[in-house]
Amino acid sequence: MSKKRDVLQFRKISLIFLFSSIIISIIATLLTIDILGIVGAILLTIYILMSVIFWRCPFCKKRLPTRFNIANVDEVLCPYCNSNLLYGEENI
Ligand SMILES: [Zn+2]
Repeated sequence: MSKKRDVLQFRKISLIFLFSSIIISIIATLLTIDILGIVGAILLTIYILMSVIFWRCPFCKKRLPTRFNIANVDEVLCPYCNSNLLYGEENI
């Protein structure tokens, strides 16, 4: 597995943390369980850290937009240098 593809893997994992933190926070609020609220906050922090550290273009190192569309896997292009992140093809 190439390093380029890992960027998208990290993105998917970080989104799992985000959705988990939202669900846990809702449950914590509804059931007023303080410890779950803390867990939700920790998961949200992990999501933010992963987004800041790993969600960058591997070629030009610029931060990618948070609304970057990974559903459309055939056109995962860096908006700054146009490199294809899925196939790891650098646009020279
Ligand atoms: Zn780039």
